Amino acid sequence: MVAVRSADHHSHMYDALTGRYTFSCPHREESQVALSAFRHLERLPGAAHPAVYGVLFDCGCGHEHTGLVAHNDLDWAPLGAAAGRFLNLMTSRFDDAGVDLTGAAATRLKAGEWPWSFFCYPEGKTRPVFPSSFVAVAPGEQFLGLAVRCPACTALSVNLVTQAHVDLPFWNDASVGVVDHVFSEDVFSAVDGFRAELYSSRFDERRLNLE
Ligand SMILES: [Zn+2]
Ligand SMILES: [Zn+2]
Repeated sequence: MVAVRSADHHSHMYDALTGRYTFSCPHREESQVALSAFRHLERLPGAAHPAVYGVLFDCGCGHEHTGLVAHNDLDWAPLGAAAGRFLNLMTSRFDDAGVDLTGAAATRLKAGEWPWSFFCYPEGKTRPVFPSSFVAVAPGEQFLGLAVRCPACTALSVNLVTQAHVDLPFWNDASVGVVDHVFSEDVFSAVDGFRAELYSSRFDERRLNLE
């Protein structure tokens, strides 16, 4: 059965077929970008229902622009938008028990598969995560640097991952590169700063497994 969705779950800015978000571009009117083209994400103070994130992204026109993404669009639209609102990562349970998840994504979530994951360096373990916990993405030839704020311990970790690991829900790299230190907040305010820090860092290869 297909659930009837309320309007606030309906996303116009994310295209599930292409896996891309639509932002406005001053040069091309519109820009369609995948999560991996995001360079910096920041939860904006104030709005809470839904929370709103300010995004700096790499546009196809060759420039970086800023845009806004609502929490629903960021975390749930890639899963088909039918998902409920509050999956608690600490308990792995849905806080709103009345929410019925539908579709393939729901089945996979309930089976314990996670759409996104990363390796938390200070905790030394794999953690499930949603894009709203991504802080920065540094582009690279083969791998991307992905900075994540751990939903459990709040520390920032940086993983070296494939583009698919970022862009495709339920695609988790079997192993990732993990920067062997904790990053400070200010590193991520400038894209170049993050990149520079990344290239001067050492990585350990760690397996991602969520058991
Ligand atoms: Zn542009
Ligand atoms: Zn952690």
